[in-house]
Amino acid sequence: MIIGCLNLERCYLCSQFKNLLMAKDILKGGEFLIKESEPSDVFIPEEISEEQKMIAQTCSDFLEAYVYPNLDRIDNQEEGLMKHLLQKSGELGLLAISVPAEYEGFEQSFVTSMLASEYMGAGYSFSVAYSAHTGIGTLPIVYYGNEQQKQKYIPSLATGALTSAYCLTEPNAGSDANSGKTRAVLSEDGKHYILNGQKMWITNGGFADLMTVFAKIDNDRVLSAFIVERAFPGIIFNAEEKKMGIKGSSTVQIFFNDCKVPVENLLGNRGEGFRIALNILHMGRIKLGGTVLGAAKRTITQSVNYANERKQFGKSIAEFGAIKHKLAEQVIKTWVTEASVYRVSHSIDEAIQNLIETGVPKGKASIDGIAQYAIEAAFLKVFGSEALSFIVDEAVQIFGGMGFSSETPVDRAYRDARINRIFEGTNEINRMLVVDTTIKKSLKEGFDVSRYSKSILKSMEEPVTESISTNYYEEKKFFIKNFKKATLLLLGEVSETYQRSLTNEQEVLFNISDMIMQVYAAESALLRLQKLENIKGTDEMAIYKDIVDVFIYEAADILYKSGKDAINSFAGDKNYFEKLLSYLERLTTIKPVNIKEARRRIANYLISENKYKF
Ligand SMILES: Cc1cc2nc3c(=O)[nH]c(=O)nc-3n(C[C@H](O)[C@H](O)[C@H](O)COP(=O)(O)OP(=O)(O)OC[C@H]3O[C@@H](n4cnc5c(N)ncnc54)[C@H](O)[C@@H]3O)c2cc1C
Repeated sequence: MIIGCLNLERCYLCSQFKNLLMAKDILKGGEFLIKESEPSDVFIPEEISEEQKMIAQTCSDFLEAYVYPNLDRIDNQEEGLMKHLLQKSGELGLLAISVPAEYEGFEQSFVTSMLASEYMGAGYSFSVAYSAHTGIGTLPIVYYGNEQQKQKYIPSLATGALTSAYCLTEPNAGSDANSGKTRAVLSEDGKHYILNGQKMWITNGGFADLMTVFAKIDNDRVLSAFIVERAFPGIIFNAEEKKMGIKGSSTVQIFFNDCKVPVENLLGNRGEGFRIALNILHMGRIKLGGTVLGAAKRTITQSVNYANERKQFGKSIAEFGAIKHKLAEQVIKTWVTEASVYRVSHSIDEAIQNLIETGVPKGKASIDGIAQYAIEAAFLKVFGSEALSFIVDEAVQIFGGMGFSSETPVDRAYRDARINRIFEGTNEINRMLVVDTTIKKSLKEGFDVSRYSKSILKSMEEPVTESISTNYYEEKKFFIKNFKKATLLLLGEVSETYQRSLTNEQEVLFNISDMIMQVYAAESALLRLQKLENIKGTDEMAIYKDIVDVFIYEAADILYKSGKDAINSFAGDKNYFEKLLSYLERLTTIKPVNIKEARRRIANYLISENKYKF
């Protein structure tokens, strides 16, 4: 902008400047570690609108009408059934939620699409087919397709006339996805790319009409992406994989033998495939945090139904403290995951809106907005999938011997949950990504972690002057601020100790990433509680305060244990070791809470409602 020119309406540069001024100042990805948020900054599930509730209800009704009565047929992979169900959900508009209006979609917010993911997440194998089609199947074309490609394919993907899949993984390229061997070579007449190679573990592969296939052109070192129609010549689909869970979800290997793909089906630019793959995965990871919620809530309801019915020693097992403990923990993990997932979904909506207001085209704004929260995407995938693993495992335990029987619903829930820790990037890969991306982002965006770490270290050496407020929220905020300090302190220390070799210290990276995710979850839970109180008043808050109290209590322990493991791994000098450990202890110490009674109250509420209703 030329200094002195302030023609905000007519001068292009000045109008861009005006847009920048108008853009809302929002918390960027990863910034929660160094900044505080207010309840007014976050979105909580209790704020969903009537229209959003209707979409959620349509998802529930769909599952009740078409999925639950057919669970065995789905798991037996009855010919044509899954595709038919996807198309049925398409008739109700459920495949078009994230699709832009100009391609016959509903162009709903990220929060709304998350809500649909959550509700559909209770649909076992169907939810996997649905997520794959609406997410990794459709969105590569929505975000990266050119106008012609979008016009040709998206309206049919939005109705279910076409179903879709995403083909990245190969037998020797799983976590290391960029090492794939599938090749594309331009035909002599320059009209086609000739694809040769093999893809593995492809969800919806047994029936998908359209696939995004990642391959390297000639001797490129990076991937490109192609839109491949099932009907193209030279594609062989293997038989369905026999799996431990999500048995109804189609998973196949696909072989490309001189498969001719028209040149106009190159998606994005040559060499852009890995970026497309990663950006789509960020979205998939956050969404997975939502789908596990649907599965978790359904499993908790089944758990409490059984606990209320089953009698031993002359009373219902729900009356035993051991069972109450399990039920309460199931609820706490779900409520906190929900707080975190909707918080980040709203941040994404705000980031997208900001980008649009600064002149970024809608499609690019969406993908860039999601990519800004790559750190949160990675840890919410881990946090949510591990929460669900815990919940289904305890559900089996609550059912006792019946939990081990295929006659009960928790058998399917248990088997189906396991995949969530593996796909969309394994939890190991995502844990490493959390720390790696945090460090890279901190350097790029000028919040040098080492500087924070040093200043925290210095402040810890000074005498304690701060007293803990007796106000509930101020007290909890104080603890969370300390959790952030503990995390930043160790993040800075390990970065400095290991420098470039930090990537080889995976155990330590895991410790730090566990600390980071606990911080976000604890803060999200507290902000949800505070906002809820602002909306509903104090009367109904006791049970939610119990949830937050127990979670923060547990988070403090996880932070301490993870931090201690990290310190024990890198701090050689005895004095330095003891100093760091004592700071960590101080920063993760919270006031005592009667967690047994708090858990009992949470469980008692669940038991009285006989359903997840928090
Ligand atoms: C049911 C199912 C559906 C799927 N759907 C699709 C789909 O639709 N499209 C698609 O493209 N893919 C799909 N996948 C593939 C899935 O994304 C991969 O399985 C996953 O990314 C892991 O790759 P891998 O199986 O090769 O495991 P590997 O990469 O071989 O990993 C094996 C183990 O080693 C660990 N590991 C690997 N590298 C490292 C490292 N650098 N540091 C530390 N630990 C490491 C992993 O965490 C894991 O524990 C699906 C998989 C399954 C099982």
